[in-house]
Amino acid sequence: MDKKPDLSKLPSVDHLLQRPTMMDMMVEYGRPLALEAIRTAIEEIRQKAISNHEQVPEIDAFMARAEQILAGWVRPTLEPVINATGVILHTNLGRAPLSEATMAAMQAVGLAYSTLEFDILKGKRGSRYIHVEDLLVRLTGAESALVVNNNASALLLILSALANRRRVLISRTQLVEIGGGFRVPDVMKQSGAILEEIGATNRVHLKDYEKAIKDLPIKLVLRAHQSNFQIVGFTSEPPLKDVVDTAHKADLPFVDDLGSGTLLHTEDYGLDHEMTVQESLEAGSDLVCFSGDKLLGGPQAGIIVGRADLIAKLRQHPLARAVRADKIALAGLSATLLHYLKSEAEIKIPVWQMISMTPEDVRRKAQSWVKALRRGDIVENFSTVGGGSLPGAKLPTYVLAFDLEKPDVFLARLRRARPAIIARVEDERVLIDPRTVLPKQEGALLVELQNALAEKQFR
Ligand SMILES: *Cc1c(COP(=O)(O)O)cnc(C)c1O
Repeated sequence: MDKKPDLSKLPSVDHLLQRPTMMDMMVEYGRPLALEAIRTAIEEIRQKAISNHEQVPEIDAFMARAEQILAGWVRPTLEPVINATGVILHTNLGRAPLSEATMAAMQAVGLAYSTLEFDILKGKRGSRYIHVEDLLVRLTGAESALVVNNNASALLLILSALANRRRVLISRTQLVEIGGGFRVPDVMKQSGAILEEIGATNRVHLKDYEKAIKDLPIKLVLRAHQSNFQIVGFTSEPPLKDVVDTAHKADLPFVDDLGSGTLLHTEDYGLDHEMTVQESLEAGSDLVCFSGDKLLGGPQAGIIVGRADLIAKLRQHPLARAVRADKIALAGLSATLLHYLKSEAEIKIPVWQMISMTPEDVRRKAQSWVKALRRGDIVENFSTVGGGSLPGAKLPTYVLAFDLEKPDVFLARLRRARPAIIARVEDERVLIDPRTVLPKQEGALLVELQNALAEKQFR
């Protein structure tokens, strides 16, 4: 028979404050937060005693619950995870992981004062624009460069500064949504530019460009990369060079939003050819913009390279201040770009390390993992580049495959690990792609996999 709980046995806050562990909690979390946790724990346990007709527990149970509550309150929600999905630029998982040198540069500038806008030779005010721009000019052959917060803001700034309330010519084949509900045309419209759409969804011809330029007061011609979208079948788009020449014949600037923007030749890595930043500039693009955290493999940034007179206009526009890059990103981006300058991108930048792993490299890793775990099969599969870049780009890989009765329950179990492990299910099998697992996370991954697989429900 249920007995009514004796609530008079509930400890008071003052009573709990006398406990030695309370002092530790106050040192660790600060007095106000520790007190709030104690009150919350007492209230929780009181409610539970009433609704479950339970007796009030020992004092230690209150302290233990308060500890738990505190740990929950201070646990960051933005934390590292292990990406075992095989998607290299996983937008939901933070796109590009950074190189050691990139993080070191960010840390050094973050932990001290810096030369952000100070010229140490002259002892005078300097410019935040010089740090990365010189590197970009060297790497791409552009006349000038500008770095802003991200590529969406680069696009917004370009169109605001060069085409506000004027007509911008763009092909319907390029009016794409790139995920997260982000539509390239919506951003463009925010600049006040009027989008003049030409061609059909699947095809656009040079004569569509020529006719629009002849008939309408066009201010700028824009190309936007189709990102994670691919039109297949009956399609056509004129070569970039021809569109650029058509724009130039009418004295119009041509702007190329490359999206991902690569400095390296993707075809050297078994991927489809992706126009590089340098190639777009060589074809005559007046401005090229791209992201810092996609194929470049650096921190979030929007990078604009091209004609010096146009870049100067962008710098002078009031929006430039609103979308400027912060010092941490600038420090990190410089360090990432240095890897390219020193021809060490492939060995230092995680994204390119992953892309350049051969299927044989991945297979060897998968084999050693299966050996360590004594579970799982090795099967052929594909990794993807992702991140709104290289539509459909696939890299042959080998994955660990686990046949389990409840694959989704296993995925949830892996997500409860710290760092959480993000894997995927295909044909009822749990797949782990070694390609996207950072070397320093391998140990943690294997321990957690082993623990999870040893649980009764997964044995
Ligand atoms: C990813 C992408 C953007 C947006 O870049 P962010 O750096 O995420 O702001 C814009 N345009 C294209 C074509 C893209 O692929």
